[in-house]
Amino acid sequence: MSDCYGGRVQLPDVDGREDDDECFVPLSPVLLDASGVPINPVPALEFRTTGTEGVEVGENVNKPGREQQRLLVKGTGKVVGGKWETNGNFSTGIHGQEDGGKLGKKRRPVTVDTSKAKTSLEALKISIRQLKWKEIPTGRRAPCDIYWNGVSFLDNENITSGQVNKFPGMLEISRKINLSRAVRIMQELFPVEYDFYPRSWILPDEYQQFSTQLRMAKESDAALNPTFIVKPDGGSQGEGIYLIRDPAELRPAVAGAPARQAVVQEYIHKPLLVDKLKFDIRLYVLLKSLEPLEIYIAKEGLTRFCTEPYKEPSQKNLGHVFMHLTNYSLNVHSGNFVHSESQSTGSKRTLSSVLQRLAAKGVDVKRVWSDIIGLVIKTVVAVVPQLKVYYHGVIPPGKPGPACFQILGFDILLMKNLKPVLLEVNANPSMRIDHEQEVAPGVFECLPSPVDEEVKVGVIRDTLRLVDPGLKRTSSCQRRSAGADEAAAAAAGDGQVRKHPDGVPSPCLKQVFPKYSRQFNSLRLVERIAALFVRFLGVKGNMRLGPTAFRTFIRNCKLSGSNFTMASVDILYIDIARRWSGAPPDSREAGMSLQAFVEAFLYLAARRFKSQTPREQAASLLDLCEAQLESPTAGPEECRSLSCGRSASRGVPGAPKPRAHIQHLGPAPPSSAPLPRRASSQDCRRAKPRSRETHAEN
Ligand code: ADP
Repeated sequence: MSDCYGGRVQLPDVDGREDDDECFVPLSPVLLDASGVPINPVPALEFRTTGTEGVEVGENVNKPGREQQRLLVKGTGKVVGGKWETNGNFSTGIHGQEDGGKLGKKRRPVTVDTSKAKTSLEALKISIRQLKWKEIPTGRRAPCDIYWNGVSFLDNENITSGQVNKFPGMLEISRKINLSRAVRIMQELFPVEYDFYPRSWILPDEYQQFSTQLRMAKESDAALNPTFIVKPDGGSQGEGIYLIRDPAELRPAVAGAPARQAVVQEYIHKPLLVDKLKFDIRLYVLLKSLEPLEIYIAKEGLTRFCTEPYKEPSQKNLGHVFMHLTNYSLNVHSGNFVHSESQSTGSKRTLSSVLQRLAAKGVDVKRVWSDIIGLVIKTVVAVVPQLKVYYHGVIPPGKPGPACFQILGFDILLMKNLKPVLLEVNANPSMRIDHEQEVAPGVFECLPSPVDEEVKVGVIRDTLRLVDPGLKRTSSCQRRSAGADEAAAAAAGDGQVRKHPDGVPSPCLKQVFPKYSRQFNSLRLVERIAALFVRFLGVKGNMRLGPTAFRTFIRNCKLSGSNFTMASVDILYIDIARRWSGAPPDSREAGMSLQAFVEAFLYLAARRFKSQTPREQAASLLDLCEAQLESPTAGPEECRSLSCGRSASRGVPGAPKPRAHIQHLGPAPPSSAPLPRRASSQDCRRAKPRSRETHAEN
């Protein structure tokens, strides 16, 4: 069996089978679909095709002694050549601009522009060397296959092709306030599924709610004395974070400065301890594509340890950062910090070494993994709607451009009862593989960090292998003939990067979506609301809906009537748009943001379907709107708005199928909507900066 979590843990598949090769098996409770019907567990994807179709791309067909392999790409009939190299890497020989269809002919290596890689550079260089790809260190005029940006999508100017390792807007979306808002919407709709995120309030806007709710809770239970953690929005590395027990302890804004926005959050006071220390998990997650949604999780991650033994919060110890905050950047300054010399000791350890210790104590590690996978998928599902809106805003439709992918850093805390809790998502996780150490009093040196190198080089190398342009080409061929989910799975072969022969590191990235899509697709309701929003946004790259577009939405979906007049619609628009006017994205723009639109949508749903739960209300209204928009009797205004937008429901499970002509790849019939553009990472295009992107790395 594989040795993902310390070599001892054998995971049963969802249907109870043992799967030697499978370490990621969600065991989440069965979810209900939009109509409340339980969704049965889904068997794992088949890794190997049978019969005459040959093997899928991604399968190791190499047998010792066979130099050249032929891979028949399932669904396309296309045969590609490739061979395993002495370093264990598989080369397809189809990199480069034109492969000309000739088998076995050596093509130019994949080129990676590393000129903007910043602190990822060292790990990136090692990965490129291992893959025998070509580094373009100073950038160049001729296009590269991959651009590796250190901070954001905007680092490299004027890219019109290839792939960029950042999605537009991801930095904004992963800020603490935006993440809290995105998860909160999901908590409203799916309270049980989204209970992995601590209760949060946004300051200063929700100060009153925070203090009122706390006062009422204390009144009803005099023994209650909860602790809260205050985190500045956009902060990183523990900067500005402090603990409080009373709203009066909130630090006032510095005189003259505008009140800094922050999240105040329930403090998890019973974390799981190892060696009496609090620790958190840094998990690397690859968002490979937005549509179809493709998510990979690194099997190996890091754990960051506090440097002072943990005690539950008391008024006395609230200020002990080395006890309560696990940030490396803080604890490295504690006299107790231990630079790890092995993977299982010190203040930064591999995740597998910690899980191995837990397994030895009888902890059900596979359950922990399963919960973590669920947490990751649900979090991505919560942020994808906003990401799609950014995509639409930054990359207007119709023009070619780079595809996008992104490595995210998930910070996760395990509670004493082993339940994982999401702390935050870092759009720009540190990929440094060295650390500063005081080698003599006052003398600091940068020394290699073997633990960081082990984990981070693996993540970058496997990410590169998954976005290999040779594979991309295959996948786009397949997408024409396969459904989105099947194509996504096929694009990565068996859902993993290619296996290596013995003696080289095994792949660390594992596909979890669409692999487990059927368990989680029913959560993608807000994505469907976002699809409606984008449909009515227009073509100018707006990210906010104007009043006329909102009216058009209401009218085309036939949501107005005698008890909800167009005058009420206007009042609703003004009320909600005004309340959200200061909120990102891009608060300089007037109009209704996605979050405001979602609020309006949920309000309309609650009005119309009074007796249902919020989630049923939203699903019912979505069905109604989508049906209206698909109706062949849609009026001229609908055609106008459709011609400005893209398919509302395309790619979002549960939404009705688009009308037949929308699926045409050629031009649409004149009377119908033009072909909606897929908001795919495949055609992500560089555009004028629209948003402030911070430069935090964490
Ligand atoms: P930053 O981006 O500044 O690192 P985080 O949200 O990751 O901010 O918080 C910093 C640290 O504070 C975490 O690594 C964790 O140790 C601790 N922490 C954050 N939120 C909570 C919470 N809700 N309960 C307990 N500890 C928390």
